[in-house]
Amino acid sequence: TSFHALGLSKGLLHNLTKAGFQNPSAIQAEAIPHALAGRDVLGCAQTGTGKTAAFVVPLIERLAADPKGHPRALILAPTRELAIQIQSTIDRLAKNLGVFATTLVGGADMQAQVRGLQQRPDILVATPGRLLDHMWNGTINLGLMEILVLDEADRMLDMGFAPQINQILDALPEDRQTLLFSATLPADLTRLVQANVKDPVHVTV
Ligand code: AMP
Repeated sequence: TSFHALGLSKGLLHNLTKAGFQNPSAIQAEAIPHALAGRDVLGCAQTGTGKTAAFVVPLIERLAADPKGHPRALILAPTRELAIQIQSTIDRLAKNLGVFATTLVGGADMQAQVRGLQQRPDILVATPGRLLDHMWNGTINLGLMEILVLDEADRMLDMGFAPQINQILDALPEDRQTLLFSATLPADLTRLVQANVKDPVHVTV
């Protein structure tokens, strides 16, 4: 398969080529069509498989087609390093497409992040603790989110983020798309999936 065969718009195909992404990786070829169709996806994939673009590409494609001026997608990641990497993939692949992301991670200045939020990003990339800080401060409202991505979900549970993730899930609309990526599926994660992901397509690489 090629990215072209996945039915992506011209601008995104251009950015993929510029990023050196010639053909989709296995996880991308499997996950992107389902995500574009609005299905929930449960992706089992390690780092290095191209899992980041497996969720970033459909997010950009969907959000660029219908800009709204408020955050519509939330990506949760276990660490600030991973969040920053995801933001950088979005920056490259969404260039000139009118889709913007901002990153909310611990150890960075809250006020700078609030200014980032005032730029009306389409996508928020966050670690769970800092996202909750912003929710408590009233600087974000998750009520209009349409898509949730949980990246490295097993690692987030390992790091003890289950209570934070549950509080975030409570604040999100039930009527949303959920894309969950994880290297492993331990029992606690399976329970979280059963309670929060609707009839997901399972994609394993
Ligand atoms: P990830 O698993 O998302 O951390 O991606 C691993 C590496 O593969 C990153 O450096 C990406 O830039 C690169 N990558 C992801 N998808 C592709 C692709 N379709 N073609 C070439 N490189 C890719």
